[in-house]
Amino acid sequence: MKLKVLGTQSPYNTKRHNCPGFLIQEGENLLMLDCGSGTHKMLRYPNDLQKLSVIISHLHRDHYNDIYNLQYASFVFHNQKRCNNAINIYVPKTPISINEDIKLESNSFAEYHDISENAKINIGNMEVTFCKTDHPVETYAIKVTSKGKNIVYTSDTSFSAKEKIIEFAKGADLLICEASLLEEYGFPEINSHLTARQAGIIAKEAKVKELMLTHLWPEENARKYVKEAKKEFKKVVLAKEGKNKKIH
Ligand SMILES: [Zn+2]
Ligand SMILES: [Zn+2]
Repeated sequence: MKLKVLGTQSPYNTKRHNCPGFLIQEGENLLMLDCGSGTHKMLRYPNDLQKLSVIISHLHRDHYNDIYNLQYASFVFHNQKRCNNAINIYVPKTPISINEDIKLESNSFAEYHDISENAKINIGNMEVTFCKTDHPVETYAIKVTSKGKNIVYTSDTSFSAKEKIIEFAKGADLLICEASLLEEYGFPEINSHLTARQAGIIAKEAKVKELMLTHLWPEENARKYVKEAKKEFKKVVLAKEGKNKKIH
């Protein structure tokens, strides 16, 4: 699998950073995990749309805003006969109003699927499974496995889901973990997001091979997240737009 980082920041995108998004390529297939503000401009049009599946981990704006750009682009390119394959879009069932808003978009060339904790999706050689996290809306951590290797993306979560996520991420080749917060600001241990140190604890206890931190605050010095996570786990990298990584 080849991973490309599309977006790393929340709650809004800036000139050099996008909201969360990751693109995994395996053979002919492209799988986009989350579709935050600004991520759509990292795709190549119309070619990438032909082989694209998008999984939205949860229906918070920083994770799905750009789905509307992809839908409209697919509609236009399909009308021009430059895109023959519908995008496959996977979304949580709730909040129902947003789920329906995406699915009822008429100017779109897409097929829609709901996701759930027990869902197992096969996209080419990739198998995708889910683990519900603890966050204010229905949210899933996502595991993508191919040829015995796997990438786990936590999406957004409270540390209260720690045990479930450790089990889900056990031995992962790469754990992409949200680290929205820094310990130095004195957040309570149980919040709707993780500190970088909590991300490090999850990586350590899950015995993953490498930890990639994402979902960072725009105004913060990014090196602080790495420093804090390294108190718990040594192999830490920062997600950065355009960064490519091979998992094999
Ligand atoms: Zn969220
Ligand atoms: Zn978020």
